[in-house]
Amino acid sequence: MDDWKEAGKIAKTVLSYGAGLIKSDAKILDVCEEIENKIFKLGAKCAFPVNVSINKVAAHNTALPDDQTIIEDGDLVKLDIGVSVNGAIGDCAITVDLGDNKKLVEASREALNEGIKIAKEGIKIGDIGEIIQKTIQKFGFSPIRNLSGHSLDRYKIHAGLTIPNYNNHDSKKLKKNMIIAIEPFATTGVGKVMEGGKSGIYKMEKIKPVRDTNCRNIIKYIQEEYNGLPFAARWICKKFKNSVFSLRLLEKEGIIKQYPQLVEESKGLVSQTEKTILVGEGILT
Ligand code: MN
Ligand code: MN
Repeated sequence: MDDWKEAGKIAKTVLSYGAGLIKSDAKILDVCEEIENKIFKLGAKCAFPVNVSINKVAAHNTALPDDQTIIEDGDLVKLDIGVSVNGAIGDCAITVDLGDNKKLVEASREALNEGIKIAKEGIKIGDIGEIIQKTIQKFGFSPIRNLSGHSLDRYKIHAGLTIPNYNNHDSKKLKKNMIIAIEPFATTGVGKVMEGGKSGIYKMEKIKPVRDTNCRNIIKYIQEEYNGLPFAARWICKKFKNSVFSLRLLEKEGIIKQYPQLVEESKGLVSQTEKTILVGEGILT
């Protein structure tokens, strides 16, 4: 359990450091890189690229290699980070409000607090969803139903179990020593996300021979360095020449897959709060 505790501790430290970087006029490229550098400085690795998702984008966005996006006054910014210590993962997120969305931020934060309070051994998973849903609705907003928390395992961000943000009547029960991330999303919109633009986040999809030498070297690097965890186009661009071309080729071959951004269907604003917990022991991040 030591690696999980260490990953959680670093994730917590880095999340609050990162939140301090979210200001109007900050480039999301600088924000992502400074946070990732901090993770390395503290002796850990990224479990996934730093996610900075703004306003109606709920999740799955990191800075592209040449990203010029600037955070603007009034933006609602979700910062979601993952720290890996030998594959043990701390996954946590916070929403920074540069506008007038205090209540919306509070809704996801309160929903997380309420969810964590009851997330003990023996509790039904649907009941966690129910309290999240009710808390968010009490604030006058909707939970996003097709985004959810999850169990974690070494080198696995989604380890099989889904922790819903509404009562899906799942009667499976939490067990002692399960590691789960609870992550309520609250929105002013209809409460559903759809696929949007490019996220800059990739995963290894399937192994298959490829002729191009640069592509072969990139695959080898991805396997050794990330071991199944998601990675950023930015990271590959720093290590290899012609990365943009090679990544496109690998994507076309179905060897890697780029995640799409997840955007609220009715363009509603979205807040998110997330923590990783160890059932029976408490909060890790
Ligand atoms: Mn997360
Ligand atoms: Mn998560």
